[in-house]
Amino acid sequence: MASNTGSFSGFLGLTGYLCPYTVIEIIHAAGFVPVRVFVPNTSRELADAYLPPNFCPYLRHVVDLGVRKELTRYDSIVVSHTCDGARRTRDVLDAYGPGTGLFFLDLPKRDDRDAVTYFASQLARMVRFFEQRSGHRITEKRLREAVTLYEENRRLLGRIYTLRESYPALLSGKQTAELLDFNVSVPVSEANERLRQTAVRMEREGRDAGNERQGKRVFVTGNLLDFESYLAEIEEAGGVIAGDDFCFGGRYYPGSIDRDGDSLLALAARYLSRVPCGRMERYAERFDRLVEAVERTGARGVVYLGLKFCDNFLTDYPLLKRRLDEKGVPSLFCECEFYPAGTGQLRTRVEAFIEMLD
Ligand code: SF4
Repeated sequence: MASNTGSFSGFLGLTGYLCPYTVIEIIHAAGFVPVRVFVPNTSRELADAYLPPNFCPYLRHVVDLGVRKELTRYDSIVVSHTCDGARRTRDVLDAYGPGTGLFFLDLPKRDDRDAVTYFASQLARMVRFFEQRSGHRITEKRLREAVTLYEENRRLLGRIYTLRESYPALLSGKQTAELLDFNVSVPVSEANERLRQTAVRMEREGRDAGNERQGKRVFVTGNLLDFESYLAEIEEAGGVIAGDDFCFGGRYYPGSIDRDGDSLLALAARYLSRVPCGRMERYAERFDRLVEAVERTGARGVVYLGLKFCDNFLTDYPLLKRRLDEKGVPSLFCECEFYPAGTGQLRTRVEAFIEMLD
């Protein structure tokens, strides 16, 4: 399990968030370090008392930590309104949680002008919330500084993803997952330094090693899972991870922010137009990008890691499968817990899938 281990001196504290639709630039501009809430691979039995059985495994872990009062290391937590499960999570944390600050960020499903205006008004609420917690104003200057740092972060991640397409042996799937976790666990300048070093290393070693293509390349897609363990399983089954479109990976970095106008409007537009996931209205655009990435990376198949009870991702798969079938790209669907359960069965399925790829 990843954890938030960076150097946090000079900051007011940590703000935990669950989904990458959280506008972390505002949190940084307030003086807090935005960090993803990681969850341990432990029992979630306390959460069972508050939640129905058919509930997102990741959010169940979060609720369990909350009602155990184990989220107190965060000054506050931002829950984005991505689905009904997120809403219930907010309700339980609010009523029985750790007693830290809690901000619920409403998130439109579209990215048209009305949606951007509405989302910008939600960001203005978020600014007021964090101004109260920090005790100082979040000025346009502070926001722009935060935007610059996070734009650099996404640019560096994009550079690494491009390098990995050519040299997958230089950054295994497991290493990629570790890097992605680190990226959302520490202050952004620390993350940028690590990404820069990784990119420089890959460029240097890539030049030496040439364009390595070992093993059968697979493309992996999925939402909120412990990717480190899942990618390790796929690699141990013989797959070479050629690319992914994870929430905090391949879908995280594309796009940029218009620096000329009002920062909140620009941030609202940028976040709503990021590569969409299954909960957005433009969900099909993700398939276009995924099919294009499969062709570009030379992946011979797609492994679809769908989080159990996540209707958005589970109902997506038949539509994506049809697109992939039309292109002659085989795919394997795995319904997953947050951590792999019964890895033997998963390994057997992935091994059989990889074996039958051309
Ligand atoms: S699938 Fe979409 S809504 Fe869910 S965590 Fe990922 S980006 Fe957020």
